[in-house]
Amino acid sequence: ALPDRHLLVEAGEAAALLPARPAAGHKGTFGHLLVVAGSTGKSGAAAMTAEGALRAGAGLVTVGCPRSIHPTLEVKLTEAMTAPLDEVDGGLSLQAQEQVRELWAGKQVLAIGPGLGLADETRALVRHLVRECPLPVVLDADGLNSLEGKPAILNQRTAGTAVLTPHPGEMARLTGLSIAEVEADRLGVARRFATAYGAVLVLKGARTVIALPDGRLRINASGNPGLATGGMGDVLTGLIAGLIAQGSPAEEAAVLGVFLHGLAADRLRKTLGEAGMTASDLLRELPAARRELT
Ligand code: AMP
Ligand code: MG
Repeated sequence: ALPDRHLLVEAGEAAALLPARPAAGHKGTFGHLLVVAGSTGKSGAAAMTAEGALRAGAGLVTVGCPRSIHPTLEVKLTEAMTAPLDEVDGGLSLQAQEQVRELWAGKQVLAIGPGLGLADETRALVRHLVRECPLPVVLDADGLNSLEGKPAILNQRTAGTAVLTPHPGEMARLTGLSIAEVEADRLGVARRFATAYGAVLVLKGARTVIALPDGRLRINASGNPGLATGGMGDVLTGLIAGLIAQGSPAEEAAVLGVFLHGLAADRLRKTLGEAGMTASDLLRELPAARRELT
């Protein structure tokens, strides 16, 4: 369980949150997650999310993506399974809802949003899935943008904690505030959102804030500006979902995932410096970051 001793999340606390790795565990033990992500031009976001989950230690990952980018993801992703979904104009169509329902059966968590695009039908699909999905959900990027002006949809969920991972621009869209207003009161804005919508709100950026549904706040101590490059947020989405797949409660997965993500970047800084690390570099560093904590 999460202590409320002080605001800053550091290594000792993160270590205590690591999910167990039983010696006799098999891939079923470590969970199966569903990623719904990608659109034409953004297949990489889906791939980064899936690999983030695998590098977090998840047992199995399935990616549902628009049919036209499916062959691309088949080539990009070796370890993850993939499923083509109905699309319109390169993004998911509302019709894909039945296919996604079939895919989420037997899974432990749904990660949705990276690279989905903002076609009207895709946004409607995301809102439908967020309402109906009984699993814990990690919502990021265009998944968050699909809730623009309608965050109360989160209160219609009947089961499963929602974890939202906006950067300040996405948080501004979600709340109707300006980016300056979000940045001027990161703790207050995150806390108000988490308590109003019963969600775990991860407000990203230097010193990421994690706000819990009961109003508790944490501030992450790890990470550096090397993370300020495309794909890093998608890795975090997969990482948090991958920890939930392994049995971590959503709140703990958010705190641990954000810490591990920053720790991997801090390890890379020693060899690469703070510029030029890529999301692929970070993916490869995640297992060693986890090992450092054990
Ligand atoms: P996104 O904007 O979705 O790609 O996510 C970027 C990721 O990098 C988030 O996890 C941010 O918290 C992290 N990040 C970006 N800039 C910084 C920074 N200057 N210091 C620490 N972390 C950062
Ligand atoms: Mg992002």
